[in-house]
Amino acid sequence: MPDTNAIITALTTICGAKSVITDADETAPYLTDWRKHYTGTATAVVHPGSTDEVSRVLAYANEHGVPIVPQGGNTGLCGGATPDTSGDAIVLSLKRMDQVLSLDLKSNTMVVQAGCILETIQRSAEAEGLLFPLDFGSRGTCRIGGNLSTNAGGLGVVRYGNARALCLGLEVVVPDGRVMNLLSPLKKDNTGYDLKNLFIGSEGTLGIITAATLQLFPAHQAVVTAFAGLRDIDAAISLLNLCQSASGGRVTTFELMPKSIIDNVMEHYPDTVQPIADIPAFSAFIEISSTAPTDAMPGSDGTMPLNNLMEGILEASLEDELINDATIATSGNQRAALWAIRELTPESEIKAGVAYKSDISIPIEHMAEFYHRAAAAAEAIAPGVRVFGFGHLGDGNLHYNLCIPRQGHPDFMALFPEFDTMLSGLLKQYGGSISAEHGIGQKKRHLLRDAKDATALAVMEAIKKALDPNGIMNPGKIL
Ligand SMILES: Cc1cc2nc3c(=O)[nH]c(=O)nc-3n(C[C@H](O)[C@H](O)[C@H](O)COP(=O)(O)OP(=O)(O)OC[C@H]3O[C@@H](n4cnc5c(N)ncnc54)[C@H](O)[C@@H]3O)c2cc1C
Repeated sequence: MPDTNAIITALTTICGAKSVITDADETAPYLTDWRKHYTGTATAVVHPGSTDEVSRVLAYANEHGVPIVPQGGNTGLCGGATPDTSGDAIVLSLKRMDQVLSLDLKSNTMVVQAGCILETIQRSAEAEGLLFPLDFGSRGTCRIGGNLSTNAGGLGVVRYGNARALCLGLEVVVPDGRVMNLLSPLKKDNTGYDLKNLFIGSEGTLGIITAATLQLFPAHQAVVTAFAGLRDIDAAISLLNLCQSASGGRVTTFELMPKSIIDNVMEHYPDTVQPIADIPAFSAFIEISSTAPTDAMPGSDGTMPLNNLMEGILEASLEDELINDATIATSGNQRAALWAIRELTPESEIKAGVAYKSDISIPIEHMAEFYHRAAAAAEAIAPGVRVFGFGHLGDGNLHYNLCIPRQGHPDFMALFPEFDTMLSGLLKQYGGSISAEHGIGQKKRHLLRDAKDATALAVMEAIKKALDPNGIMNPGKIL
């Protein structure tokens, strides 16, 4: 490998001096992940301004065996965008490539550079009366290249699918610097292997996404938001199915919220409005949306069609004893108050203390059994552990987090390997996954070998070797 000066000179020649950062204070934010669990070092952080510059940086790195760590908004939760501590890597940030390149109102598609911030994409679509439905808490910081590289999920997956489902085309720079143009917006293209989907979810280990063609949707004209106290987790599944059938599949969000996490939000954010008088062990946060303008018009009695629909669903659920209480937002403020509980959940968890975090998915029919067995097993490992298992029940995906007992613990983090083994074992038994949406990164790499089918893993390794024979792309991640 060339010495540091030679690498910096080469990067400066390609991208310009202003785009190559080596100062310790300036590089620091790029070298630690969002959760501050991983910190690495790097020769430099480089900000290419075009696909051509990315291509030339990769060609140079490949020729000289310099590791490359791609980075978008650095909000990933598995340490995927953090280099190791060798100091050999270049962090390649896509921040400068942040433009919306085009928006087509006939096909409802948008072409964006990989460094475009998710919220910018959402706003650009909104300005044209359209919707880009990928959405979650880091929307103002994360970038579409990172979203696609992690195949991100979030709050609207139950209706629109994850990042993969929203992407029609990609431009990718492969490790030797060649540019692969798969940006076509075609919905149907059966010309061999689906390479676009190979790069989506590959967490920067196979190449660098430089641009994407995204599918947009008609904007929502009406929405109804509700919070329901549930009989139990199985009742949540029945309620979800009822909402889907009654609304014609228009459920946009269906989140499971245990009492433990609602209490935690209320404790750390005392201004939060408690949605119903008695919060049972589990509640559901539900949103149904419509793109039909008629749903935005009040009926002759002044009531809104979606509110009537939700009222009917909740009344039937009360009768069937699926729920014991519920509230429907009747104003923007009430809707914001309900959303606040869900949106404050991650921050309130941080305030509660150190927690083991997971991002599991499980066939929905096994969700209740899994939840309670895992809770009992966690309690056996750490008496008093607080189980914060919340999230995207509509997708069979929970953030099953285990928080330090209220009375404290002398070395809670030392228990994480035991939690790993316990959860992995249960997930295997129920046919679940150790990562529903955050990816593997460096955090779950040690779990993958046991979790993944052996042949599938061998195929993944063969693909990695074929595309990146010199192993320069994001070493130490996934495989
Ligand atoms: C408050 C909060 C809430 C969140 N909620 C959710 C949620 O509900 N659902 C969810 O799925 N995630 C969630 N996340 C995680 C995170 O925001 C997503 O994973 C996001 O998609 C990462 O985007 P990023 O631009 O920050 O990527 P980064 O963190 O910069 O990178 C993530 C991975 O992608 C690779 N990468 C980045 N850009 C490229 C590129 N252009 N080409 C190739 N590889 C690249 C990196 O090397 C790394 O492996 C949340 C995070 C926070 C902080």
